[in-house]
Amino acid sequence: MPERPHAEPVSDLRVLIPDLPKAHAALAQALGEAGVGGAELERLFASGVTAGCVACGLSVTGSDLGDLSLHDAEETDRRLPERLERIRLGYCPRQGCESRFFRVELTAPGQFDREWVLGRTRDLVRGVSGPRLRLASTLSSDTTRRLGRLAGIGLATLLVAFVAYRLVFFRSQPIPFIQPKSPYTIEPASIDPHQR
Ligand SMILES: [Zn+2]
Repeated sequence: MPERPHAEPVSDLRVLIPDLPKAHAALAQALGEAGVGGAELERLFASGVTAGCVACGLSVTGSDLGDLSLHDAEETDRRLPERLERIRLGYCPRQGCESRFFRVELTAPGQFDREWVLGRTRDLVRGVSGPRLRLASTLSSDTTRRLGRLAGIGLATLLVAFVAYRLVFFRSQPIPFIQPKSPYTIEPASIDPHQR
């Protein structure tokens, strides 16, 4: 058997609710690396895995986690039941519960290192969401910089336009070299006072 990856053993695995759809694949991979496979893996997910809200205790099964993961990967058109849809959106399904975490548990007995499997699952869940988050924050800071530069250019343009506007339209005197004196200026003395 290949050497399994390093993972800190964990006895109590808490997963952020928005990360729960990733827990199924992560747990399956961790169990596989711990030497659990085939029929035993299927049996575990059918009846030996639960995920429960740390605040109100509401729980979902291993196959619910499977449904969530299929939706996360967009591999099905089947509508999720309302409570799983709530989880997919990042909330505990129980009305009014504001918990952010579910506890993932392996309730069935088995010949594997339970705490290593939970620790490895936690690492995999974080690893799956990590790069995406990092990419998103890089993009957004880049975008912010670009927007900042654009705002600077926009402000400078506005300032120049404002100064030009003031110069052209609000100066009482015509601007030299731009507005030559009109050749048709009427001399007041030339107006015949009797011609009204
Ligand atoms: Zn809850």
